[in-house]
Amino acid sequence: MHEMSVALSVVDQVEQAARARGALGVQHVHLDIGELAGVVSDSLRFCFGLACAGTLLEGSELVTRSVPGSARCAPCGRTWDTGMPPDMLCPDCRAAATELVAGRELRITEVRWAADTAAPGSPAQPATILEES
Ligand SMILES: [Zn+2]
Repeated sequence: MHEMSVALSVVDQVEQAARARGALGVQHVHLDIGELAGVVSDSLRFCFGLACAGTLLEGSELVTRSVPGSARCAPCGRTWDTGMPPDMLCPDCRAAATELVAGRELRITEVRWAADTAAPGSPAQPATILEES
C-alpha cells in the first residue's frame, strides 16, 4: 500500500530528527500533501498510527494539509490551479508545454516535540508573533 510506505518514511524521518535533538516524544507532525501525489489523507493517517507503534512517535497525531496542484505555462508564464484530475493545458494560450509547480509534494512542515511543552504551567509559546507597523 502506497500510504503505508509514505507513513513509514515520515515516521523514520521524524524519529531521526527527534533523536538528533534529544526529544522525548512527538505530539504532532504536520504534513503537506499535494493533491496530485496520489495519497489519500485518511488512509495515510491510519497507516501513520500503525507505523508509530513502538517508536518515539507513538501516540502522536498526523495533521495533514492538502496542497492544490498548480501548473505554469512555459510560453506565456501564466500559472493556474490544475484541479483534479489535473488540467495541464494553459487556459490562456492552450499550450501544452506546461510545468507542474505544486501538487506532488509530501513535505513535513512542522513537528511539535513533546519536550517543547516542558514544565506544567509554563506559558505557551505563540507560533508567530504579529508586530504592529
Ligand atoms: Zn499559456
